[in-house]
Amino acid sequence: MNILVLNSGSSSQKAAVYCIEKPPGDDPQEPVWQGRIEWDGTLRRDRAQIEVSNLRGARVNNRVEAESRKQATSQLLASIWSGAAAVLRSPEEIAIAGHRVVNGGREFRESAIITPAVKGAIERMAALAPLHNRAELDGIETLELKCGNLPQVAVFDTAFHSRMPDAAAIYPGPYEWTEQGIRRFGFHGINHQYCTQRAARMLRRELARLRMITCHLGNGCSLAAIRDGHSIDTTMGFTPLEGLMMGTRSGSVDPGILTHLMRRANLSGEQIDELLNHQSGLLGISGVSGDMREIVAAMKQGHARAKLAFDIFVHRLKAGIGAMAAALGGVDALIFSAGIGENSPEVRAATCAALEFLDVKLDAKKNENPILDADVSAGGARVRVLVIRAQEDWAIARECWRLAPAKARSERRSSESYGKN
Ligand code: ADP
Repeated sequence: MNILVLNSGSSSQKAAVYCIEKPPGDDPQEPVWQGRIEWDGTLRRDRAQIEVSNLRGARVNNRVEAESRKQATSQLLASIWSGAAAVLRSPEEIAIAGHRVVNGGREFRESAIITPAVKGAIERMAALAPLHNRAELDGIETLELKCGNLPQVAVFDTAFHSRMPDAAAIYPGPYEWTEQGIRRFGFHGINHQYCTQRAARMLRRELARLRMITCHLGNGCSLAAIRDGHSIDTTMGFTPLEGLMMGTRSGSVDPGILTHLMRRANLSGEQIDELLNHQSGLLGISGVSGDMREIVAAMKQGHARAKLAFDIFVHRLKAGIGAMAAALGGVDALIFSAGIGENSPEVRAATCAALEFLDVKLDAKKNENPILDADVSAGGARVRVLVIRAQEDWAIARECWRLAPAKARSERRSSESYGKN
């Protein structure tokens, strides 16, 4: 069964095609085709870079002029069945498509087949996640136009956290906030959940008996506390701005700072949004970059503000892990994932060094260069430290397989077409 996965970001659009022949097993599978659109820094929709590649090593890189996000996405998708990196003969060979949807609010506790009612609910949630849900709806509508009756599935980043207890989910503002839908949703749930399941298999332990803390550290960063396979607390909240320090996002700051800036500097909501989302975090403190690689490199050359940015990042990460450990009442496994989590031995080492009181201890050598997915904890330590590659697209493809209507499965046009193109 050929499964198309669309993963929309505020300034990028990723897509992947998986060819799944039998019920997906424990190990993640590589996509047969991958593509990505990057809009230029000013987010001008008419200029974008499209890169596609397939499992046979064909690679195409195009700079395109497109009037809209939908048009660029349409061009990206066309390269699945035409051009040098094509892997299918036509759009009809796709059996089902899955979308990462950032905010499913309280309405979605699980992935859902997209119907007009589901689309309506995603649209309503767009008011709360304007940078994301709108982009995801664009992807859904582009496929409706291009592929007619193709079954489509929405996989929500919030769903995994949707059973968080009220004590963790409700903000201690006026109770009316709760009635207005203002509460903590949490994000990155697709990867937190994937890491949880993967960790249980790696440790050969039952999910229901594990207390885990997953650290998703990419451009956006969040932690989740997982008990019995469910998220019981997380650091992101009503929006993906709460919690840890991130590449260009501040994470949690005293809300009094915001009212101070509004009163004293007369800043508008948009200006504050811009400061907190794009001019803060690693970039805001260091003045160098929002990219952890550049922060570490500058720090090693003695750049004081890069060092400060690194130290704040780690300080907040340790504090967050401490809070998650308290919510769980103990920890069996600590998991690092996503760009920084997977690739920065410095961040893992500095974080774990402070957690020895929890019986977290790294094996310095394994930590230096782990071959993913890996256990990098020292032999005798009780808490296992794992580094797990983020596999959001694969997790979405598996959800598609699980939810695929029988018709989509029986009509599958397996990988035979992939071999022939
Ligand atoms: P996104 O959240 O956009 O999916 P990623 O998961 O790709 O982002 O993570 C991006 C982050 O990962 C960036 O801060 C980048 O610096 C960091 N990163 C990638 N490779 C390394 C590395 N070798 N060392 C440290 N950080 C890295």
